[in-house]
Amino acid sequence: MKIGVLALQGAFAEHRKILELLEAESFEIRQKRDFEAQPADGYILPGGESTVMGKLLRELDLFEPLQSVISQGIPVFGTCAGLLLLAKSIENDPSVYLGAMDIVARRNAYGRQLGSFAVDGTFADQGIIPMVFIRAPYIQDWGGQVEILSQVNGKAVAARQRNMLVTAFHPELTNCTTVHQYFLNMIKRSRCTHE
Ligand code: GLN
Repeated sequence: MKIGVLALQGAFAEHRKILELLEAESFEIRQKRDFEAQPADGYILPGGESTVMGKLLRELDLFEPLQSVISQGIPVFGTCAGLLLLAKSIENDPSVYLGAMDIVARRNAYGRQLGSFAVDGTFADQGIIPMVFIRAPYIQDWGGQVEILSQVNGKAVAARQRNMLVTAFHPELTNCTTVHQYFLNMIKRSRCTHE
């Protein structure tokens, strides 16, 4: 299994470390030819700054290739800014990036005082995990095909729609592998349905 990790900016190295713990191979996508050089079984869009990543994706001509693999059903996991990149729209920002997932996100949603915080919360049916939020969004609204996987303080902070998984928090900044394992299981199952 091989995962392509978008490595334009932000917390991509941390994702690769967790994948290594889970013995999943990964490679960095810094430009279009990295993307084209090898097919991946899944992709990770890390946290960082959505405006910067969006600009770089456009300049590097990576929007269409990503949209294409997502629409083919290849699993993709977006954390924090990655969630914003996948969202259909952002409530408090006119930008639409990949626009692939039927969620409306609220950017920098916790205000200045709660800019960064850590809590323990339930993720899907996987039990309680540590969740680190850094100037995070939450999911304000979502369509009928979206399954909400975590809520913190009454706000949706993790969700799945078909082959797309998003978390507003950063599982890659903890030593807990649960969310990445969940993503790798999504990949394994998507292979079964394709074969
Ligand atoms: N605040 C950032 C944004 O709007 C996201 C923060 C993060 O990815 N940790 O893009």
